[in-house]
Amino acid sequence: FKIPEIRNEPMKTYSPHSEERAKLQAALKELRKKAPIEIPILVNGEEIRTGKIEEQRIPSDHATVLAKYHAADHATIDKAIKGALTAKVNWEALPFNDRATIFLKAADLLSVKYRYKLLAATMLGQGKNAWQAEIDAAAELIDFWRFNAKYAQEIYQQQPPINSPGVWNRVEYRPLEGFVYAIAPFNFTAIGGNLPSAPALMGNVVLLKPSPSAVLSNWIVLEILREAGLPDGVIQFVPGPAEDITEQILKSPDFASLHFTGSTHVFKKLWRDIGNNIEIYKSYPRIVGETGGKNFHVIHESANIENAVLQTIRGAFEYAGQKCSATSRVYVADSVWDKFRTTLLTEHAKIKIGPVEDFKNFYGPVIHKASFEKIKRYIEWAKDDASSEIIAGGIYDDSKGYFVHPTIIVTSDPNSKTIAEEIFGQVHLPVLTIYVYKSEDYEKTLDLVNKTSEYALTGALFAQDRYAILLGHNKLRNASGNFYLNEKSTGAMVGQQPFGGARASGTNDKAGSATLLYRFISMRTIKENF
Ligand code: GLU
Repeated sequence: FKIPEIRNEPMKTYSPHSEERAKLQAALKELRKKAPIEIPILVNGEEIRTGKIEEQRIPSDHATVLAKYHAADHATIDKAIKGALTAKVNWEALPFNDRATIFLKAADLLSVKYRYKLLAATMLGQGKNAWQAEIDAAAELIDFWRFNAKYAQEIYQQQPPINSPGVWNRVEYRPLEGFVYAIAPFNFTAIGGNLPSAPALMGNVVLLKPSPSAVLSNWIVLEILREAGLPDGVIQFVPGPAEDITEQILKSPDFASLHFTGSTHVFKKLWRDIGNNIEIYKSYPRIVGETGGKNFHVIHESANIENAVLQTIRGAFEYAGQKCSATSRVYVADSVWDKFRTTLLTEHAKIKIGPVEDFKNFYGPVIHKASFEKIKRYIEWAKDDASSEIIAGGIYDDSKGYFVHPTIIVTSDPNSKTIAEEIFGQVHLPVLTIYVYKSEDYEKTLDLVNKTSEYALTGALFAQDRYAILLGHNKLRNASGNFYLNEKSTGAMVGQQPFGGARASGTNDKAGSATLLYRFISMRTIKENF
């Protein structure tokens, strides 16, 4: 069995009057009709209903409950841990090919059978427009499943160690001893799928805590995996109160790994908690996380300005700026600033804001009230700050949905809070801050870009001049994990641009790469004399 050549899943375009748009619209209508959907906990293949109900609401229409889910309690988590460890015995003994087949089959099922259902859940539940949902809940998740299988096969089939006379050496790639705890974010259905799937593919068992704002889409992903043949107990689905669940899980001696995507603040806290519990554990837990970013675009005076502006608008405002990779600080050379500003404001004025069920809207709501309130405070701070000028947006309204208009701030202070810091613990903002630098200070500005932020997730440089590109390439070496030339800071594709960042942005284990899969195996070396 050899995994066939893998290509990126072709993306659908949902053009007006197309069959695919009609199908997606029908799926949205059906979901609206069925809401609220009741979602159980899933432990050992058993659907558990604790009766402790929590809600996932539609962010563009917060009066409507999309899903009501049962929250896991202490007894359920206990059962989930024990059940996972029991399931592990058979799961890790299953040959890799059989494990891979399940994820490859899930990819095909999502591609042909569940695409519209999962897209509808992602659009209504997480506020993504059709195209943003397609690149995430269809293309990226399918790609994760297929490319992971290919990378895993390459790991298992590597050249064995060399032998010496009378000695035969082997290495064995075992899963971790214990279970993996996956904590998923709201902003990518694909990440909610990859966080448990990558370790499971390598023979691990996983407890998955979905984001309260993405429970429905994460649940549908689990349904797909079950239909594809995932055995009971391999991925336990345990939604509920994050702090209680996490505290209990981190106290288990069998806790072997944290696979996390979410805020920097929470990740650092979990890291400290794991450190404090270190004497409890049977092994040193593998901590793998992707967190925030303060992602930059640098515009050199040689840049193609139309392209730089379009990429900036897309990087900053697609999915209302709620990608970890969203562009949030832009440095523009003063010699091109007038043109950049005029083009930016023209493009900004074209952004159509509103519920994303309506396909004409490009830009939807932010995820929930807490996020809305944080962004509001951020904008109010900028309104009062003498060095900041809001040149577009700055408007918000949560009467029906959580809408914050795409906001652009120009600052005269390169260390201003809005350009340098994560404010209020919230970096996923539809707010872009611009600093205009003197063209002759390009080199100094690169140093400034590198030094200004504690984050290093993504960044982009726009220039045509090869010397400027080379300088940026070298000076910004550690300023991001994903570096783009003449391309926005968002939109990494599995198999093409492995994704992740260092510094405060994460452990940079790169989703969509073999590096990530290595984190979930533990090698055994075997030397045999004969
Ligand atoms: N991989 C996504 C991108 O490149 C971002 C993922 C995230 O927001 O965590 O845009």
